Amino acid sequence: MIHGSCLCKSIQFTIHGALRASRFCYCVHCTKYAGTSPASWAMAESATLEVHGQGDIQKFNSGRGLRCFCTTCGCPVWFESIEHAEIVAIPLGVLDDGDIPAPEMHIFTQSKPTWCRIHDDLPQHETYP
Ligand SMILES: [Zn+2]
Ligand SMILES: [Zn+2]
Repeated sequence: MIHGSCLCKSIQFTIHGALRASRFCYCVHCTKYAGTSPASWAMAESATLEVHGQGDIQKFNSGRGLRCFCTTCGCPVWFESIEHAEIVAIPLGVLDDGDIPAPEMHIFTQSKPTWCRIHDDLPQHETYP
């Protein structure tokens, strides 16, 4: 089990399963959503996500999916893919405890901001692998 929450804690959630496919993403949408680059993500099956708390979630359609965030504190909480509704992507920074996998690759490096440097040997992909 993995727990996560937004900055103000009004949105809390549990993932009843494993996270997988952890990665750093440098795409323009993720950079704006995260407010920095890279954004770091792991995937979970949508059916394993249970939401608690009284907070309201706003969903912004950025084209490929819905970028969800807390209406009180503005914290990104997860990404709902439109094409693959069975999958949600969770920003690693909102996860509080549990088995959180370290990113295994860099994706969309063609969009990497010039101020951003990569200092590891993980595989790099210019777009989505
Ligand atoms: Zn919040
Ligand atoms: Zn991205």
